[in-house]
Amino acid sequence: MMRSAIAVAMMAVVGMSSAEARQLGGINKGLSIAKKANDVRDLSMTDAEEQALGKNVSDKIRARYGVVQDANAHKYVSLVGLALAQSSTRPALPWTFIVLDTDGVNAFAAPGGYIHVTKGALALAKNESELACLLAHEITHVTAKHTIRALQKTKAVQMGASETLSGSSALMEKAVNAVYQNIVDKGFGREDENESDEVGAALANKIGYAPNGLVTFLTSLKERNKSKTEKSGLFASHPQMQERLDRINKQIATQKLAAKATLQPRYAKNITFTLVDIDALTAVAAGSAGLTGGGEAKKEEPKKEEPKKEEPKKGRFGMPKSLTGSGGEQKQASTTASGGARGGVPDEKDAKGGPNPALVAVKLSPADVAAFKKEGGLS
Ligand SMILES: [Zn+2]
Repeated sequence: MMRSAIAVAMMAVVGMSSAEARQLGGINKGLSIAKKANDVRDLSMTDAEEQALGKNVSDKIRARYGVVQDANAHKYVSLVGLALAQSSTRPALPWTFIVLDTDGVNAFAAPGGYIHVTKGALALAKNESELACLLAHEITHVTAKHTIRALQKTKAVQMGASETLSGSSALMEKAVNAVYQNIVDKGFGREDENESDEVGAALANKIGYAPNGLVTFLTSLKERNKSKTEKSGLFASHPQMQERLDRINKQIATQKLAAKATLQPRYAKNITFTLVDIDALTAVAAGSAGLTGGGEAKKEEPKKEEPKKEEPKKGRFGMPKSLTGSGGEQKQASTTASGGARGGVPDEKDAKGGPNPALVAVKLSPADVAAFKKEGGLS
């Protein structure tokens, strides 16, 4: 469309007067801008399209992992999340907080304000400030539009000149798949993780939470994965996690982030999930979750696996992606399936999910959030 419009405009300026010639400069300038925009054609979208994309991605994440059908857990996580989101740079997004039905420790931020946290992550967190710092980290992935920018940078999804995300279901499907893969399988780049750590810690601190919650949470996660990492020796040659913890601690010191609330009793009252050992997690091949019942039959005997020497990949929370050293995406699926048969998973994200993808409706007014903050001494 745009190209032919340009061609017509070019023909129209042939045989021009001097006044027209002066105009040509302007036209050419306009054309070059149009051409530039035309050449780029990276994935672009309005806020409404971003939210529609995020909702579709959330549908896919919920189909994979299922949703814990527990209204109180959802209400509590939503109150913590909304308290933070209100003080973020995009308070007006329709923020939605979802508890996924898997024992793998994970959190996924989809565009437009859809934040997913697993019951495994909730079981691992020790208090409300750890949850708050984890949610603040994920909220920042959304407010900084990390997913959208990553897609634009890699040119994973390109648009036709006159195409829009809301106007093309084929394009939407392509974008949803790319975003899902980015969020669940690939993870964010190091810079984006650092930005989310930094902005997230400051955000949690701003409303009164102890800002080192992510540090203590990640330390627990590191400890949880210890047997595997020591066996494969990934942490020995992979100091990223410790660097990351040091970086956050340094930020807390230099920026004098001194908020104190941890609110452990309130957390313990609302969150009662049981942590399942990483070697006892049952794996499923990607996409097959939700067909079988969740929850039961996950305590299989862990089997030892020979560590293979492969490049560590960055995974969720910047953990080495594949602790038992499986290869690329294709290989990963079969490793996952066989890993399930043996008990134990290549990665937290490969853990089995629950059967019900339905959202648990939470209705909270600004007054509810205000009362929750007041009760916790938050601001
Ligand atoms: Zn992250």
